[in-house]
Amino acid sequence: MDTVRRYSMFIDGDWADADERLEIRSPATGELVASVAKGSREHADRAIAAAKAAHDDGRWRGTSPSERAVVLDAIADRLGERIDELAVLEAQENGAPVRQAGAFQIGFSIAHLRYFAGQARTYAFERTGPLLQVPTLASGLVRREPIGVCAAIVPWNFPLLLAMWKIGPALAAGNTIVVKPDEHTPLTLLEFARIAGECGLPPGVLNVVPGEGPVVGARLASHPDVRKIAFTGSTAVGREIMRMAAGNVKRLTLELGGKGPNIVLDDADLDLAADGTLFGCLMNQGQACESGTRIIVADAIHDKFVERLIERISTISIGDPLDPATDLGPVISAEARDRILRYIESGRAEGATLAYGGGRPAGPQFERGYWVEPTIFTDVRNDMTIAREEIFGPVLAVIRAESTAEAVRIANDSEYGLSAGVWSTDNQRALDVARQLEAGTVWVNDWHMVNAAYPFGGYKQSGLGRELGPHALDEYTEEKFVHLDLSGRLDRRAYPLLLSTPPA
Ligand code: NAD
Ligand code: MN
Repeated sequence: MDTVRRYSMFIDGDWADADERLEIRSPATGELVASVAKGSREHADRAIAAAKAAHDDGRWRGTSPSERAVVLDAIADRLGERIDELAVLEAQENGAPVRQAGAFQIGFSIAHLRYFAGQARTYAFERTGPLLQVPTLASGLVRREPIGVCAAIVPWNFPLLLAMWKIGPALAAGNTIVVKPDEHTPLTLLEFARIAGECGLPPGVLNVVPGEGPVVGARLASHPDVRKIAFTGSTAVGREIMRMAAGNVKRLTLELGGKGPNIVLDDADLDLAADGTLFGCLMNQGQACESGTRIIVADAIHDKFVERLIERISTISIGDPLDPATDLGPVISAEARDRILRYIESGRAEGATLAYGGGRPAGPQFERGYWVEPTIFTDVRNDMTIAREEIFGPVLAVIRAESTAEAVRIANDSEYGLSAGVWSTDNQRALDVARQLEAGTVWVNDWHMVNAAYPFGGYKQSGLGRELGPHALDEYTEEKFVHLDLSGRLDRRAYPLLLSTPPA
């Protein structure tokens, strides 16, 4: 490759280098894309100190919300100007097909940042509460104030977008933040930091420290000066972060794994449902926490639906993520590929029927990089490993349901509860099912449509708190009640005689 980019870390508005470096390689080819300074515990400490100094001197929380909105909008504009280039960078670092990276990884990041800029303008940072005494002798204010130094730890599947869900509300509310990208995917976040600096975000307000989870991530999660931590990733690491955060009672937002049930009712439009099911499960090679991976199909249409799924999955084009015609790219790493293939093996061993795929695609273009065929299992029971554990790969598990009630029961029989979906031509019926599902998001006749104006997050072990939506800034603010007495008298308090006695 002719252009190996070199990146440093972004700390206190400046680029900081390190002796140790991360090699960023394309998961499609193994080629070296970039070399990035690898942060240590000391770098995390420096970034936290910079964020704390920026918080303490008020250089950001002291600005008005509308000034902050102007800066966030300027960053969104600049991201928009560079969307094509950033989509290519994302495709290079994590293997997402470039068409999808432009729309989803980068496009949604821009749209969602704009939403947070809007939130800065409209959020009730200070409002009056009910009168405390009538006639008005006392009144109350409710303020929403920044928490202080926030930290974000994000995964590799949607590196910029999932960081934006944390950076956006944190900065809109006036906090400062340290972000740790995943080891595989720091590039778009470092470009974001560059753009933020160019757009006038003051030094120290946003810091990006690439590095290993157990080193930089663990330091952020346990540091006493970090007051809030937001994490997206595996449930196992989320649990660990919760433990570390307990040390100084950090505020916490967690977006963890999922095993999204996708219910196809007997009156579904089967063409729509088949394409939607494939989109719901295969987008980003199945590497999305909100993927619909358990396909729960009404008995009456099961065979016809499976036939349609197989017909359609065979038209998916697998290959070079930089080709706009590509639907499915590589998975993130050799470990991920091997883990997915082991899950496929377990499906076979536990008695599911392999109906499509199941291996590595054949051909010279797949000799390097990490590839898994899109795969369909049928005759899956909900107690099989492939129905219980998050595979994080392009593997659909089709489960048969005798009735709608059984479909709902199977759907809710999971420790996860991030996303779910229903396919039906009867909206009332679909809504009736949606109301019964234990999931933070339910899509009816669609999938993956995460909307910045609506909350996103999980039931059960899929997480804690919500990102996005009109209350997103609540998770990045402390609520304060100010009582203002207007009477000059305290004669109904505990010391009535003393205080109501007129001066001699
Ligand atoms: P992970 O949870 O290991 O990594 C996510 C982030 O946490 C990365 O930045 C990583 O460096 C960091 N991290 C890892 N160990 C840490 C520690 N001890 N302390 C602090 N930070 C730490 O996820 P992964 O291994 O990259 O992906 C594997 C699984 O994670 C997937 O199978 C899936 O279950 C889940 N996942 C979920 C999402 C999601 O969007 N909810 C995204 C990616 C991965
Ligand atoms: Mn990991």
